[in-house]
Amino acid sequence: MSHSRSGGDATSGETVLVVGAGIVGASVAYHAARAGAAVTLVDAGRPGAGVTAGSFAWIGASGVRTGPAAAARATATREYRRLEAELPGLPVTWSGSLSWGAADRAPEPGPGQEIVDAAAAAALEPALRQPLPWAVWAPGDGAADPVGVTERLVAGARAHGARVHPDTPVTAVRRDAAGRVVGVETAAGPLSGATVVLAAGVATAALGAPLGVHIPVDPSPATLFRLRAPAGLVRTVVNTPDFDLRQVAPDRLLAAADSPERTLAAVRSTFRGTADVELLGTRVGLRPMPADGEPIVGPVAEVPGLYVAVLHSAVTLAPAVGRLVARELVDGTVEPLLAGCRLDRF
Ligand SMILES: Cc1cc2nc3c(=O)[nH]c(=O)nc-3n(C[C@H](O)[C@H](O)[C@H](O)COP(=O)(O)OP(=O)(O)OC[C@H]3O[C@@H](n4cnc5c(N)ncnc54)[C@H](O)[C@@H]3O)c2cc1C
Repeated sequence: MSHSRSGGDATSGETVLVVGAGIVGASVAYHAARAGAAVTLVDAGRPGAGVTAGSFAWIGASGVRTGPAAAARATATREYRRLEAELPGLPVTWSGSLSWGAADRAPEPGPGQEIVDAAAAAALEPALRQPLPWAVWAPGDGAADPVGVTERLVAGARAHGARVHPDTPVTAVRRDAAGRVVGVETAAGPLSGATVVLAAGVATAALGAPLGVHIPVDPSPATLFRLRAPAGLVRTVVNTPDFDLRQVAPDRLLAAADSPERTLAAVRSTFRGTADVELLGTRVGLRPMPADGEPIVGPVAEVPGLYVAVLHSAVTLAPAVGRLVARELVDGTVEPLLAGCRLDRF
């Protein structure tokens, strides 16, 4: 692998094949192409149509103090702002987030958070029925249109020369006689790449298994509800023990929660003017959940040329992780922010 730094549209000679055009693979492909690699991005379906399409898509970078991804998460908002500058029109909104729970006392605020009183909470969410004794306000948080961001990343990758193959299921990773990765087999024939990045969400483990690589990721179901709601009902990303909630259009709310009945009841008891709120749709998404909940990002030691990028909270982390992965693949660096995320920790 070259250790040269490169930029612009000239390729560095690195050929990177990314399996999976969800928000993770699209970000890796965009950043690697932008850094000068010759990138191929392949997906079994349409970009962003995997679990990314069923995400609540809170860019929740605040509050996390510990864990292997804490340092990367602390950069998440900044990385989104950078990406917005690189890709004008990126569909992201910066509303801040407001969280509260049942405890009498507010928790200690984490990074990027402050504790606000009832008056401040009511100013942020004027339709609240009851004064909140406390709430955690994270002014830097936001939300993404996750499919829109993925599509924009794919378009950005293409603009930097990437070749994109939608509707092309990968059936196997190909290796040479020495065991080095040389590309993938697909339903439409072979594709080559000196590095293959598995960013296939819940399908990642199945792609590694025939190579003898155990990637401990399981599907973790989570439910998203679409609700009809009055314009301007919810202003921030609201997080309570009953639901995560945000307004995505003048007449639409998205809620990540457990049951439709409890969610509707909780929305009605939390906000005024909600008599007409109704359920429009339900979508269950299978989140790729690593065994310890933390990202698995890095090269696979026993298969030269193979690299894995699979993580939860990937809407929040995709810009940061994509840029870091691209640096490792194209510049040959070892990124300290990914040090705690390697597969060999299992
Ligand atoms: C209800 C819900 C709420 C959520 N809320 C948040 C949140 O608020 N904030 C946050 O950050 N995250 C949230 N998440 C998690 C987030 O959505 C995921 O972490 C993220 O979308 C994962 O992206 P991905 O690219 O890894 O997976 P995917 O989007 O599933 O992409 C993987 C891609 O790989 C492709 N693929 C699979 N197998 C193959 C193959 N053999 N060949 C070719 N292509 C293949 C698939 O077609 C797919 O497009 C939520 C998820 C859910 C379900």
